[in-house]
Amino acid sequence: MESTLTARDRVGVQDFVLLENYTSEAAFIENLRRRFGEKLIYTYIGSVLVSVNPYKDLEIYSKAHMERYRGVSFYEISPHIYAVSDNTYRAMRTERRDQCILISGESGAGKTEASKKILQYYATTCPVTDHMSTIRDRLLQSNPVLEAFGNAKTLRNDNSSRFGKYMDVQFDFRGAPIGGHILNYLLEKSRVVHQNHGERNFHIFYQLLEGGEQDQLSKLGLERNAQKYHYLVKGCCPRVSSINDKNDWKTVRKALTVIGFHEEEVEDLLNIIASVLHLGNTQFGEGEDGETQITTEPQLTYLSKLLGVDGAALREALTHKKLTAKGEEMISPLSFEQAVAARDALAKAVYGRAFTWLVAKINQSLAFKGSSSVIGLLDIYGFEVFQHNSFEQFCINYCNEKLQQLFIKLTLKSEQEEYEAEGITWEPVKYFDNKIICDLVEEKHKGFISILDEECLRPGEPSDISFLEKLEDTLGGHAHFVTHKLANGKTRKAVGREEFRLIHYAGEVNYTVNGELANQSVNSITAGSVSEEPVPVACIETRRLIVAATQFKNSLAKLIEILMSKEPSYVRCIKPNEAKQSGRFDEALVRHQVKYLGLMENLRVRRAGFAYRRRYEAFLQRYKSLCPGTWPNWQGRLADGVATLVQHLGYKPEEYKLGKTKIFIRFPKTLFTTEDALEA
Ligand code: ATP
Ligand code: MG
Repeated sequence: MESTLTARDRVGVQDFVLLENYTSEAAFIENLRRRFGEKLIYTYIGSVLVSVNPYKDLEIYSKAHMERYRGVSFYEISPHIYAVSDNTYRAMRTERRDQCILISGESGAGKTEASKKILQYYATTCPVTDHMSTIRDRLLQSNPVLEAFGNAKTLRNDNSSRFGKYMDVQFDFRGAPIGGHILNYLLEKSRVVHQNHGERNFHIFYQLLEGGEQDQLSKLGLERNAQKYHYLVKGCCPRVSSINDKNDWKTVRKALTVIGFHEEEVEDLLNIIASVLHLGNTQFGEGEDGETQITTEPQLTYLSKLLGVDGAALREALTHKKLTAKGEEMISPLSFEQAVAARDALAKAVYGRAFTWLVAKINQSLAFKGSSSVIGLLDIYGFEVFQHNSFEQFCINYCNEKLQQLFIKLTLKSEQEEYEAEGITWEPVKYFDNKIICDLVEEKHKGFISILDEECLRPGEPSDISFLEKLEDTLGGHAHFVTHKLANGKTRKAVGREEFRLIHYAGEVNYTVNGELANQSVNSITAGSVSEEPVPVACIETRRLIVAATQFKNSLAKLIEILMSKEPSYVRCIKPNEAKQSGRFDEALVRHQVKYLGLMENLRVRRAGFAYRRRYEAFLQRYKSLCPGTWPNWQGRLADGVATLVQHLGYKPEEYKLGKTKIFIRFPKTLFTTEDALEA
């Protein structure tokens, strides 16, 4: 086969391993910049794909492009997300090992787009029969539905995923997609009731109001005007130029049908959407005796109809709470602020439950029970640092620590193990192991989450400050934990009094404990189906708490277990500028991401070893024509054939090593030269 690389494809180096000055961050960024300038958005670090968001359609995703990448090795063709897709697929088929592709990067870097391109690649190139085309279509259509309910316009991304997603795609023995399963993480429920300036609520609300048919809206008691709904206008941004809510609504409606939602189920969903909007418009005032009461009767009527609950019970739930003291139940009235908080909590719980139900329904429609091979796609939030970092950022960054740990375990360890298995001497590379930070967060009894748990479950009112003190007692002195107190009794200015700082592998982050504990309480009742009665608000406030952090820790541990059982590939996404503009490459911004994606370290480790390795038979098959001794067929031992071949090609001893089953090549340059010889 001919090499498909052209001169333009080789602007800079297409694999960072080829960089002369591979320890220089400046050289790294210059290579990215030069390639980006030529619209070459993809570059490898060995088998890791680095992708820079072009913020425009590059016309490199056609069916013809997909075909070009089928069955082709990394270095034979320019870097592409399809190369990763195809290599992963082939590894699954030939090595019969489950695979996963981990996509990371900050908000707006292109993770979700990358995961969709991978899915499209499989949908287009894998064999399918008529019967299986249903599953293929459902896999594809799950995206618009989940994006409608789980994505929103933020300052950083007009289509920002506000949940983490892991999706398994199952393939049968012929390599055809036959099923799938989705796991979702940490939906940002606070967005249902509040949005920052310039941001919106989840897309679905605007889609329904813009695109829903008139009689449908009337039935739901809604007006076709987002401005009328308190929950939709907090960010002062009901319209976004890059978004067509009306068209998107049509897409989502069709997608729901393809996935197999019944009309009643769609109605249930819309009832929930509408009831959230009515909740947002539910107002409170003071009654004659100073008690809090609902002043918006029409909202209450709609709510009770849409949610299918008794109006009086709902009124009670929104204005009173149930307390259990000494085994006796007591009802006590809520203050105005408490009632508002209870209303918002209900809206969040109802929406969160609808999302959970939606994912469960999609999973039902994709379910396949039988033997299969799997490719998992992880599209999860990258490391986040804001001016104010709260519990949400903590969870996100903790998640990134865990994924980094997984990266270290899988990539570095498997690299070393492979050298050992092949009988090749290998000098271990030094790298920073972030296990120490993972332990700081999750260790039993003395980790951050244990302390948070204890503090939440302790009798009496938990307070943010006592929590911080407890943290100081237990973690003070840890190399990665810092508060405002210095050892000499002085105050560290960079950390506030209600803050603590974690020194993450990717950088330092100050987290506030302000309001932390109040937000931790979630109730097991919030998990269930939409058609159940809504949660009486009093329940949300009971002290039978499951602490959110522990829940998150457990679901992360499960995710890591799933990923550990698979062979990973990595896609690292980079955002070139904050303005969402094409052609602009902001070096400082890119440098920051290169740093916290750990790319320099990644490159260093990769360079320390052998850049490429290939099984003897594959290597001989491809290059035997270059040597009279191996052409047309080598008769002896494969290893001897490869030795004959590379000697003929003039490989120097330091350039390669021969293992038990594979040839290891130190620099990709060697391989490129050989590739070029094929072409000549
Ligand atoms: P978040 O964490 O906020 O969900 P993300 O990493 O998933 O962010 P995407 O939604 O994938 O980011 O990308 C943001 C936008 O960037 C897309 O809506 C699209 O306009 C553009 N974009 C991303 N990748 C590409 C690409 N390969 N080609 C063209 N445009 C792209
Ligand atoms: Mg996304």
